[in-house]
Parts: sequence; C-alpha cells; structure tokens
Amino acid sequence: MTGRDEPVIRLERVTKEYRVGEETVRALRGVDLRIEANELLAIMGPSGSGKSTLMNILGCLDVPSSGRYLLEGRDVAGLSASQLARVRGDRIGFVFQTFELLPRQTALRNVELPLIYSDARARRARAAEALRRVGLADRMEHRPSQMSGGQRQRVAVARALVHDPSLLLADEPTGNLDSRTGEQILDLFAELHAQGQTIVIVTHEPDVAARCRRVVRVRDGRIESDDADAEPTWEPARAPVSASPLSHREERPCPW
Ligand code: ADP
Ligand code: MG
Repeated sequence: MTGRDEPVIRLERVTKEYRVGEETVRALRGVDLRIEANELLAIMGPSGSGKSTLMNILGCLDVPSSGRYLLEGRDVAGLSASQLARVRGDRIGFVFQTFELLPRQTALRNVELPLIYSDARARRARAAEALRRVGLADRMEHRPSQMSGGQRQRVAVARALVHDPSLLLADEPTGNLDSRTGEQILDLFAELHAQGQTIVIVTHEPDVAARCRRVVRVRDGRIESDDADAEPTWEPARAPVSASPLSHREERPCPW
C-alpha cells in the first residue's frame, strides 16, 4: 500500500513516441508530474499537444516509451497489457465526454459493471450506494435513453467511483452538456473532491479549469506551466450534503 507521503501519481521524464510509417511522432517529450492524494487538477492544452496521450498513460491504457510512472508508489511503466488492465480495473475510474453507458441496461446495471467479480448482492448494494452518492437514488431502474444528459453523466461518474478508485480521470466530462448541466457535474466533482477523491480533468474549457485548484498546461509534448505552487484561488467545496463514502475495497473489478 502507499506510504503517507507517497503521491498518487509520479511521472519522471516520461516520453511517448508513435511510429507512423517512416516517421516518429514525439507526443510526449519528457514529462515530470506529481499528483498528491485529494488534488483536483485540470490538464489543459491546444489540440495535438499531448493531453490524450498523457491521459492514456495516467489511466494505464498505454505505457510510456521511456521514463517512469509510479501509481501509488508502484512502477507501472513496464507492465504487460493484462497487468495494466488489472491495475486499471482496480485503481482508476474513467469518465468520458460521451458517457459510454450501455444503452439497454439500467443505471444500476451500468454501475454494477466494474464489479463483475463480486457476488450479485454486494454488487447491487454498492452500485445503489454509488448512485445515491451522485444524487440518482430515484433513477436506478432508468435506462440511459430515459435520462437527461446530466443524469447520464452522473451514472457514468457513479460507475467510475463504484470500485473506490485512487484516481478519477475525466476526459472533457462537460463537453456534451449545456453550460448549466456542466456546472452541476463540476459541482459534483467539487463535492467528491471535498470527500477526498483525487480527480484529474482533461479539458480545453477555461471555465472548467477555473474550478480546479491546480492547472497543468501542456504544449508540444511538454508541461508548459503548472500552477501547483501558486496561491490558492479556489475555495474548497462545502461539506457534502450526502456523504456516503465508498470505503470498503472489493476484489478485482473488471478492467475497462
Ligand atoms: P491532444 O489530446 O492534446 O489533442 P494527443 O495526445 O492526441 O493530443 O496527440 C499528441 C500528438 O501525438 C499529435 O501530434 C498526434 O497526432 C499524435 N498521436 C496521438 N496518438 C497517436 C497514435 N496513436 N499514433 C500516431 N500518432 C499519434
Ligand atoms: Mg485529445
């Protein structure tokens, strides 16, 4: 397990290169990044700067070409695809711009999905708890088509949280929502942050980044700026109204 001072994430001189025919694209050119537990951080940068590549590495969807990636003190840079899948399924929760819910399944079934290795009753109970946590206690039997965009994204957040991940990774989580609904999702992130969740949001929207305590800007595969040391401008969220912590850990949820 992680030591007290161990950051959730430590990247050291991480590079990523893609071979495209004869050419080599240098998507990341030496990234150093440290993210502590309970940070709420935005990664920003122009298109093509390397945000998705960085996100894929942070989320254990891909490995660096060189450098080290320590997730909770554990070096994951050299893991095989199946080992990575296990780390991912166990320690990371993903939220996507397009929600990525199973359309024919109820909210409850969608949220149960990462817990395939638990028994049915435990799964159901934890999924219900996660849905309550995102304010959807009364929508558990609804299918995605019977919910609004904001509600769908809440289901996706519940699914990302149900296995109690050490890192919640969100890629443009408000990109498909109108601004008021987007605000509500950001309120939810602020609430989860106040409950201790570590959250990284990839976004190109300044409004979204403004809600984060720390903004890391990426350009040409490098970190251009990181205001981790700047004065706090963001007020910590108020104590959550409905704190029902998902504290118990479970055995092997399914990899994404
Ligand atoms: P962003 O998410 O900031 O738009 P990306 O990480 O997607 O940036 O891309 C960074 C650079 O790497 C770009 O030049 C892009 O064309 C290239 N790239 C990304 N993924 C691949 C890939 N799978 N194969 C080849 N080149 C890629
Ligand atoms: Mg991208």
